[in-house]
Amino acid sequence: MLAQLFRKRIFLAIALALAVTSALALNQPVPAAAPPAATAHPSSEVDLNVVAAATVQPPKSSTAQPTSTTIPSTNTPLPTATAIPATPTPTIDATPTTRPDNQAPRVGIQVGHWKSKELPDELARLRTSSGAFAAGYAEADVNLNVATRVVDLLKSHGVQADLIPATIPPGYDADAFVAIHADGSSSTNSRGFKLATPWRTSRAAQHLLDSMVAEYGKATGMPQDDAVTFNMRGYYAFNYRRHEHSIARTTPAVILEMGFLTNAADRAMMIDQADRIAVGIANGIVRYLNERDPNDGAALLPPEYKTQRPLAAEGVDIFALPRNSANIVAHVGPESRLFVFQERDGWYQVVVRGGGRITGWVRRELLAETNDPLPTPPPATDS
Ligand SMILES: [Zn+2]
Repeated sequence: MLAQLFRKRIFLAIALALAVTSALALNQPVPAAAPPAATAHPSSEVDLNVVAAATVQPPKSSTAQPTSTTIPSTNTPLPTATAIPATPTPTIDATPTTRPDNQAPRVGIQVGHWKSKELPDELARLRTSSGAFAAGYAEADVNLNVATRVVDLLKSHGVQADLIPATIPPGYDADAFVAIHADGSSSTNSRGFKLATPWRTSRAAQHLLDSMVAEYGKATGMPQDDAVTFNMRGYYAFNYRRHEHSIARTTPAVILEMGFLTNAADRAMMIDQADRIAVGIANGIVRYLNERDPNDGAALLPPEYKTQRPLAAEGVDIFALPRNSANIVAHVGPESRLFVFQERDGWYQVVVRGGGRITGWVRRELLAETNDPLPTPPPATDS
């Protein structure tokens, strides 16, 4: 029933969206929802399994969701980066860990580097993180401009959308979380978008990523840069074990590098066609929300793998992608210990312990479990 209301709301939003061209005009009232109760963040002593159980969303009344979700692109040019108005820091409470059945999905859109000076003491080292800068454009401004449009588009779909600065509300719990960044490179030829999930990738996070790859690529026509970095997956906002100011363990999350600010074509897209970028992001999120099974709480749980070692005396090759034709990024000996973060098609994605930043894919049957302690996620970074 409530799902039907939500479906109607989405179709209404699409109809309205088709009728108007301004992104701001798409903004419709957010569905009435109980104000979020302030929830105490669990202390680090709390058993993570207990926290996980408490944060799994309650079943929703129906899994039926609409499939038609495309938001039309509106191309309102943004003249200059300096034209972005100052936006006050929003006040956001962590969502209640158990949401009533009748609430619309909640989505957090984080503006990379925005108000990083206000980061809490536990993340003080990131207060000076200002992101990429090129041709007079600061990354945080570009991120904010796009993120604001994404939030408006999501609200037009009946989604509760929060605009979140660098500081994550403690234990932020939502149906999806997307951190928005722009890349920088010393090479002006580097271009394309990147998407990454947290190290421990839940099925829901992978689904969110796949939906965003498809929709972002379709809306923007930009190439995908497969070189997802160590920094992206170790993004500080994902690290619920280390930081109080992070997303909840069960919040499906991705970090997006929209393109390279240092590349003229990517920069023109992000600055002059910010709406097109925003449509790609919003469509990816809405596609995930429509496709997921809200009753599948297990999809939200990040996997926990045992530490692995190579089975063969000669060690194993580590591939850039989960296929035999991919580039070999490293070879490690039998004494190596590998931390597994994700499994796909019979391959494990691993990080080599003590191996600097070596990460890649190994066929599962070439590895054996060890009883070495579970890894601590790699250090938090700001991307
Ligand atoms: Zn960034």
